[in-house]
Amino acid sequence: MLTVSDPAEVARLRDQWRAEPGTVGFVPTMGDLHEGHLSLMRASGQRCDRTVASIFVNPTQFGEGEDFERYPRDGERDSRLAQDVGVDLLFMPEVASIYPEGFRTTVEVTGLSEVLCGDRSSRGPGHFSGVTTVVAKLLNLVDPDIAFFGQKDAQQAALVKRMVSDLDFRTKISVLPTVREEDGLAMSSRNRYLNEEARSRALGLYRALEEARTTFAEADLERALERGLEVLASEGIEPEYFEARLSGSLDPAGSEPGEPFFIAVAAEIDGTRLIDNVEIDPGGS
Ligand code: AMP
Repeated sequence: MLTVSDPAEVARLRDQWRAEPGTVGFVPTMGDLHEGHLSLMRASGQRCDRTVASIFVNPTQFGEGEDFERYPRDGERDSRLAQDVGVDLLFMPEVASIYPEGFRTTVEVTGLSEVLCGDRSSRGPGHFSGVTTVVAKLLNLVDPDIAFFGQKDAQQAALVKRMVSDLDFRTKISVLPTVREEDGLAMSSRNRYLNEEARSRALGLYRALEEARTTFAEADLERALERGLEVLASEGIEPEYFEARLSGSLDPAGSEPGEPFFIAVAAEIDGTRLIDNVEIDPGGS
């Protein structure tokens, strides 16, 4: 596995690989790798001839008072894990090489960046313009055939798909299922912040989503959301949001009956902000 920090070197390798046969898969991450990230890297290894992964804790997607400074960083451990799952090129740039002096451009997917986590009462739209700007940059540098994202960040996946379509990137976006701990908690680098009590309370997010999913199958969306909220309340969790949104447009679910949607939750548990979601396809597949 090659490890590179210089964007110009990644662009050089990209040009070299483009001149050779074979496809390139790409997995962008913020590091502190866990099975969720590794599942994307393995999928890339299966579907593409070469796999590039990036580790970059992107400052522009963190708001004031969020956890940019304390976000877990362990390059050595991450390198070992990436190598073990067959990553060919690990790109670990410095902040100054991604945002050099004079950097002025922002990529914003309007509308989709303003709901759920992008609502002003949540992280705000600036979070997602940080995400889409850095993903656009990384896609240009790596120019992969397929980029892999997790359903865990359903809104992020919807924004990236929209951006890639709107701006004619040639990369295909593949969204893979959320990897969970044995008890159902969605894997996340932020789970590290949880003590035992908070970890056990955090499971309430998954329980609420599962309750909503099963209630939807038996009743309707309104009842499903009510039941989910009841579970959250019984666990003492006050969510930032607990909402059903169409998977592609992020419009409120119910506006297009039969369309796939997801129910998403965000909540702060003992000072740690966690998100999760479940997908529902009323068409039945
Ligand atoms: P992050 O490092 O948190 O920015 O995540 C990098 C990529 O891994 C994103 O596409 C995430 O959606 C994905 N990811 C994070 N957690 C999980 C998980 N539990 N299961 C599947 N994918 C995940």
